[in-house]
Amino acid sequence: MTSQTAVKTLLILGASGDLTGRLLLPGLARLVATGRADGLRLVGAGSDPWPQEQWRDRVHTAFADAAGQADTAGKKALSALEEFTAYHQLDVTADGPLASLLAELEGPVAVYFALPPHVSQKACDILAPAQVPAGTRLVMEKPFGSGEESARELNRTLLTLVPEDHIHRVDHFLGKATVLNILGLRFANNFLEPVWNREHIAKVEIIFDEDLALEGRARYYDGAGALRDMIQSHLLQIMALMAIEPPATIGERDLRDAVAAVLRASSIRPPYNSSTRRARYTAGTMGGRKVPDYVREEGVDPDRNTETLAEVQVKIDNWRWKDVPFILRSGKALGDKRKEAVVTFRPVPHLPHGFSGVDAPNSLRIGFGPDTLALDIDVNGPGDIFSLDRTTLTAELNASELLPYGEVLEGVLTGDPLLSVRGDTAEDCWRILEPVLKAWAEDAVPLEEYDAGTSGPGGWSGSASHTS
Ligand code: NDP
Repeated sequence: MTSQTAVKTLLILGASGDLTGRLLLPGLARLVATGRADGLRLVGAGSDPWPQEQWRDRVHTAFADAAGQADTAGKKALSALEEFTAYHQLDVTADGPLASLLAELEGPVAVYFALPPHVSQKACDILAPAQVPAGTRLVMEKPFGSGEESARELNRTLLTLVPEDHIHRVDHFLGKATVLNILGLRFANNFLEPVWNREHIAKVEIIFDEDLALEGRARYYDGAGALRDMIQSHLLQIMALMAIEPPATIGERDLRDAVAAVLRASSIRPPYNSSTRRARYTAGTMGGRKVPDYVREEGVDPDRNTETLAEVQVKIDNWRWKDVPFILRSGKALGDKRKEAVVTFRPVPHLPHGFSGVDAPNSLRIGFGPDTLALDIDVNGPGDIFSLDRTTLTAELNASELLPYGEVLEGVLTGDPLLSVRGDTAEDCWRILEPVLKAWAEDAVPLEEYDAGTSGPGGWSGSASHTS
């Protein structure tokens, strides 16, 4: 497949950073290798005085995996991009250098801010609207601001530079395939949508349990914690897709309007010691490997009270979802890796007398990465026809050939903001969580503990099942 990209130059600010090396460049490589970024120029920039070779080596190393798997055309496309890539030394927070570089590059340019958030903010503050050529796209990483007000402030700044549909607020969790898998399942199956509401659904759980501990990421994670790192962005977005009204199209405007409407109606209610829980891991064993106490991990400040496991119960105040709990949970150093949305239906109103065995409510599970579907139903037998048993119908959903950041970059380069978080939504995600962050900072909710490698604190019983 080949296509011309709308964007001519991808400028990555933060060329030496972790995101660039580990995720962005490998994601770009797959995109290029499949012919979806023909004619693109890649430019890296950083504050260090790197020789051109050093940047080219970095790109080459990050492209190696995709090059190894690519066909002849893909290899050629990767070599061409490597050959012409260039590095510029600049301090993005100084007045002038970034603007001069933008003026020099072939446009339209997509500027990827792979920088610490406060540096990105400062770089945008310092740019004047006249210094940003028409057609420029600005790609902002998470976290987008540090609260509702700072997200609003950042939105105001960005909107002086480019229009909303040229701002890409990245949420790489929501790959295109996952978004479309959820929408296809919900809106292409007439047996599902009529029961997708408070009359038939008891609760919805969205769970991202990681079987990885801190893995040396204290510098970022200890200042963020599970609530900000996962729930504030990724899980609220998945929740919104699970809860949206049927859109007329899957175009960015219809879809992002529907997502925004759900999040506007969402809140977490006090008392927060009943609607939220938090915990931190202590020493344990994961996959035969010893994990130290979180507070003994290098770079962790125990006084920050950072949680490594967070759970919140969101209420969506609209006709469809009134009083249905949406339970969002994410944590590190858990025994089982679990990434799924679980929809639990209400029990049948009356089971005809004479049946025995299992009569449990149906549940529908959508697994993420790889995307899968599992529907738990009760059937007769095997054996005694009067005895009900649980069985599970399963399906594999579509898998993207791109890496998550390849999907992000494809949207940026083709000028499609479908997968980008819209400005109002970015503010709302903070608005939903700010009261919880405040309650936790005031210790209104106890910080529980769990041994690394277990399913969480005793009483959480390995599933997000509490309701208030
Ligand atoms: P790093 O600290 O690894 O890299 C930051 C980069 O910014 C470095 O290349 C640094 O270059 C550059 N930089 C800092 N100050 C300036 C300046 N004044 N002018 C020019 N360049 C500057 O951060 P990450 O790559 O980890 O993160 C970048 C962003 O991506 C953050 O917003 C983060 O939250 C987000 N993110 C990161 C993920 C990850 O896994 N790493 C995952 C998801 C999001 P130099 O050293 O030369 O100053």
